[in-house]
Amino acid sequence: MDLRLTEEQEAFAASVRAFAREHVEPTVLERDRAGRWDPDVWARVAGFGLAGLPVPEAYGGSGADVLTTGLALEALAHGGRDAGLNLSLGAHLTIGCMPIVLHGTEEQRQRWLPRMARGESIGAFAITEPEAGSDTASMRTSARREGDVFVLDGTKTFVTNGGLADVVTVVARTDPDAPASQAFTAFLVETGWAGFEVSRELHKLGNRTSPTVELSFAGVEVPEAAVLGEPGTALWKVGFECFDWERCCMIASAVGGMHRDLDECVRYAREREAFGKPIGDFGAIQHKLAQMRIRLENARFLQRQAAWRKDAGEEHQLEASMAKAYVGEAAVASALDAVQLHGGWGYVDEFHVERSLRDAKLAAIGGGTTEIQELLIARQLLG
Ligand SMILES: Cc1cc2nc3c(=O)[nH]c(=O)nc-3n(C[C@H](O)[C@H](O)[C@H](O)COP(=O)(O)OP(=O)(O)OC[C@H]3O[C@@H](n4cnc5c(N)ncnc54)[C@H](O)[C@@H]3O)c2cc1C
Repeated sequence: MDLRLTEEQEAFAASVRAFAREHVEPTVLERDRAGRWDPDVWARVAGFGLAGLPVPEAYGGSGADVLTTGLALEALAHGGRDAGLNLSLGAHLTIGCMPIVLHGTEEQRQRWLPRMARGESIGAFAITEPEAGSDTASMRTSARREGDVFVLDGTKTFVTNGGLADVVTVVARTDPDAPASQAFTAFLVETGWAGFEVSRELHKLGNRTSPTVELSFAGVEVPEAAVLGEPGTALWKVGFECFDWERCCMIASAVGGMHRDLDECVRYAREREAFGKPIGDFGAIQHKLAQMRIRLENARFLQRQAAWRKDAGEEHQLEASMAKAYVGEAAVASALDAVQLHGGWGYVDEFHVERSLRDAKLAAIGGGTTEIQELLIARQLLG
């Protein structure tokens, strides 16, 4: 087995890391404190070509595969330490652009993808509801047919980029009686349509530079041309693909964060002295560094394995769930170690690992919790 990246992939990751150090990291502390989304940073990310990574070249993107898209997210997090930016970019790419790439009509692709690839339009996907997260099939948002439109009513929550987007992919129940595999349809809902409202902004533990909102739909009239994919199959097709991309790719951001924290901890262990010697001389500190490195290698391997298998068209559901479950827990464990290793300075935001701890927790929740991944792994084992 040769798990090394190609020279081209290494060079690409290095260029993203350098970009992030120069354009993202200098302002992240202030933006996190303020809980502020920064359109200027986003414009730089888009200008660097990251907003259209997996979008086919025919629609203005780079046509990058899952592995390369993950590499970019990992390098952006490593260099920039802005998990919120990574969350917004990852959501834009995997659950914003990809549903349109995979399920859009030619007209929908032409309309949305070029401007999304340029970063002028930011993607968002809304499936979670206040009372339906892991159990997506219990969602209540409905779209009933009236003449040649669908009338959309309901509430979605935890929508990343929901207040920034021009168009949001919304999954709604279109058949109250059908089984889940035939009951839900996805719609490309334009945020300027009557009845669409950003009803609440959510203030989060971490990833605070990424906006997360609740969306309300009160009789929004959605034309048939805005149906995304085959009607009735949104949960099994559009939703499944979204979660698959999300699981294989977005956790690379957490891997990048783990790598940067380890770098910082090694540096601090060399520089910080206690009892007349560097703290890196103490076995307890060495143990933390070693465990962080082991978790990093495992996390990176599992994420890249899942991405590689998806790119190769191989069965990868088990690998994707293992990667998501492992990375979510490992990121929190390593962030806790990083804070502890920094002592009191780990508890204040100037040393950044405080933010890492708050940011890391999301990897175990968003896009399918650790418990849900474990459930999926166990199902595969038990048949
Ligand atoms: C910052 C952020 C951004 C997000 N972005 C988006 C987005 O862009 N679009 C979107 O649609 N959603 C988004 N989400 C929602 C996210 O995917 C859900 O929060 C997640 O899937 C969990 O759903 P829930 O919050 O309703 O928790 P619940 O499903 O209510 O779960 C509560 C607890 O019960 C556990 N649990 C539930 N069912 C089982 C079971 N069968 N077995 C064992 N344990 C179980 C869960 O693991 C969890 O610990 C985002 C969430 C956050 C926090």
